Amino acid sequence: MRYISTRGQAAPRSFLEILLGGLMEDGGLALPEAYPQFSIDELEGLRGASYAELAFAVLSRFADDIPAEDLRAIVGRTYTAEVYCNGRETSRSAEITPLRTLEPGLHLLELSNGPTLAFKDMAMQLLGNLFEYALAKTGASLNILGATSGDTGSAAEYAMRGKKGVSVYMLSPWGKMSPFQRAQMYSLQDANIHNIAVRGMFDDAQDIVKAVSNDLEFKRRHAIGTVNSINWARVCAQVVYYFKAYFAATTRSDERVSFAVPSGNFGNICAGHIARQMGLPIAKLVLATNENDVLDEFFRTGLYRPRKTAETHATSSPSMDISKASNFERFVFDLVGRDAGVLRGLWQQVDSGGAFDLAGTTYFARIGNFGFESGRSTHADRLATIRLADAKYGVTIDPHTADGLKVALEKRDAEVPMIVLETALPAKFEETIEEALGRAPERPAAYADIESLPQAVEVIDADVAVVRGLIEAGEGL
Ligand SMILES: *Cc1c(COP(=O)(O)O)cnc(C)c1O
Repeated sequence: MRYISTRGQAAPRSFLEILLGGLMEDGGLALPEAYPQFSIDELEGLRGASYAELAFAVLSRFADDIPAEDLRAIVGRTYTAEVYCNGRETSRSAEITPLRTLEPGLHLLELSNGPTLAFKDMAMQLLGNLFEYALAKTGASLNILGATSGDTGSAAEYAMRGKKGVSVYMLSPWGKMSPFQRAQMYSLQDANIHNIAVRGMFDDAQDIVKAVSNDLEFKRRHAIGTVNSINWARVCAQVVYYFKAYFAATTRSDERVSFAVPSGNFGNICAGHIARQMGLPIAKLVLATNENDVLDEFFRTGLYRPRKTAETHATSSPSMDISKASNFERFVFDLVGRDAGVLRGLWQQVDSGGAFDLAGTTYFARIGNFGFESGRSTHADRLATIRLADAKYGVTIDPHTADGLKVALEKRDAEVPMIVLETALPAKFEETIEEALGRAPERPAAYADIESLPQAVEVIDADVAVVRGLIEAGEGL
């Protein structure tokens, strides 16, 4: 399998060649030259497979430069009941992503049973094992540098803790995360995990990461890598649970299902788009945004207008508070018939702070072929949907999942099962659950006392030189 760039001006690469990288050398995102295909018969043959078996069946098509027995071992130690049992009945954790039926034709796909209680564990845990495998092959080491406002940083740290050859330097805004999120990250005591709290906002932390990454000489000398949402391995790991959910919700592989996906950077739903392109019988991909509705606006009107930081609202589904959807370029590449010249023209506008409008174009006229529909949800909708799920189905859902369920209920068809992706457990967002239900959400036993664990964090001013110094010190240079 060869990977090409959405901008069309980078040499094709293999899976292992793009594993540790971010953008392609022309600034584009990696995509397979062609999507692997699964026929109805092949799908039928996979019905009943375990999560790890399915992951192998799907990922071996994408990562064909990893020997089959190695890949089988990697997915086998990634997707285990022990890793994906948090807070839920262990009898169901062998499913890894159990499907919970809310009512006939309406299901919730549990993606948040991993160590940090959010769906990002699904891909990040695999990334940790893939990185360790790739580094062991060459004897190299890697310093992962990132900035987080909460979920991504903890998912990365839990995935990389104790991994040979990998060190993590994770910047977070000091005092801006919830006590639970803070405890989750800062209580890790592994020698290869470095929590750095920056006096400032998330954007200040992000600017430091950008400054270090733009220093190509430092980046090369210290083997700086990232695990952000554009990483291809993360996207393709997420394709697997669409297959798993499909088999759980159907009895025959000519039935169709729809998915509703709470979206921010378009990573999760991009995996759904890819699963559909691979032949999985998906009717609709329903994209749900919060008040930051840049993607809903596009799917309704054809206008893609990334917002300025100042125009980005801080909402009660904070992991979807994005101004620009970093994986969206992958979908638009397919939408414009994989014409890299057209794509470059559109992103020239985006990259210079502008917008593009596909309304009235032949591209936008074809958008129905891709199955996308969209909607948005507000704080009031979120509270109402959390209450509805509690009263009608007896389930407590988190604010992001509530955005997904709200839009799912508007867009579902009577004859097609609708699967809502659960992106986090409510325990991560106690304040909003209390506001909606008047009581705190249940907390998985393993996290009962997490705020009282000793914490390890270095608090610094927003200064690039200090971060460079910490990375150098970590290497013992
Ligand atoms: C990251 C995240 C999202 C958004 O997912 P994308 O892949 O960025 O679209 C939604 N909900 C939660 C809880 C998240 O952590």
